[in-house]
Amino acid sequence: MTPEAAYAYLPDDWTRICKEAGLPAFRARQIVQGLYRDRIASWEALTTLPGAIRTEFAGRYPLTALREVARTPSSTDGVTKLLLEAADGERIETVWIPADGRITQCISSQVGCDMHCVFCASGQLGCVRSLTAAEIVAEVMTAAHTMGALPNNIVVMGMGEPFMNYDAVIRALRVLNCQQGLNIGARHITLSTCGIVPGISRLAQEGVQFELSVSLHAPNDALRDRLMPVNRRWPIAELLAACDAYTAATGRIITYEYTLVKDFNDSPTHARELIRLLQGRRARVNLIPLSPVAEFDGETPSNAACLTFLDLLLRSGIHTTLRRSRGKQADAACGQLRLRKLKESADGQS
Ligand code: SF4
Repeated sequence: MTPEAAYAYLPDDWTRICKEAGLPAFRARQIVQGLYRDRIASWEALTTLPGAIRTEFAGRYPLTALREVARTPSSTDGVTKLLLEAADGERIETVWIPADGRITQCISSQVGCDMHCVFCASGQLGCVRSLTAAEIVAEVMTAAHTMGALPNNIVVMGMGEPFMNYDAVIRALRVLNCQQGLNIGARHITLSTCGIVPGISRLAQEGVQFELSVSLHAPNDALRDRLMPVNRRWPIAELLAACDAYTAATGRIITYEYTLVKDFNDSPTHARELIRLLQGRRARVNLIPLSPVAEFDGETPSNAACLTFLDLLLRSGIHTTLRRSRGKQADAACGQLRLRKLKESADGQS
């Protein structure tokens, strides 16, 4: 492994690095404690290490810093969206969602996204670059610093498609999950994909217990093609086959996200079609009434339509929840805050 930023390494990596540097194993433990328990802001602050080692490691394994450049706090529900800037000036979003005494942090995996789902601000931007593993971990470390607490749950549902940045995302999640690190349980870490079938198949072989959430959003290929270009590459039958294989390999139940769009996919007929797709599968459904975004002319369905859809799924025996929309005030649809800031700077220049 060529040297990377410090947050990319697992405790075993530090043991090996210390051994190669002629240091005893307890130095590796001191480093991991310093990084994740004490959350040091610089190698200089890790005073348990000899000064020469601090200087050497600061040069070889820099601590990734993300700078907070904007914050959109929500006045009513406590959701806070942070816009963070990487060393090269690229900006990503992370969302802090407190609920029921627990904190969920939604993190990004890429700057922008190439998947072009029509209702998503990130999808309008295209992918500028993928984040490194250290930058993904740094989203959590930076938010912990600025928000003054660590999250209990991580959801990789921010900007980007995690399976288009597979290696870095999985490494970062392993760092967040490891016991000597932040010790966030695997079942409190959710990966969300728009339906990258090879990524689902690969994750099935990882030997980890991360939760998997799949954005379905439509009960047939004709409708899904219109919302999510990825469906033309991996249509619903192929996607569900990969999900079944994932469940068989891991025993994990998959959550299917379904955004309800008025007069598009929210009728009882659509609900019955969805039931036919998922009945007999180990599946949960999360219904999300569309939050209007400027980039997509779909409308939020009525409360009655949402409840009818929910009721039909529940009656069929499919475990289903209807999600409250959190963070509307915080530009909480993914990519919204970055998009707004980009537009503001463009307007400022024109
Ligand atoms: S919804 Fe997710 S996968 Fe689709 S464009 Fe947005 S960030 Fe990308």
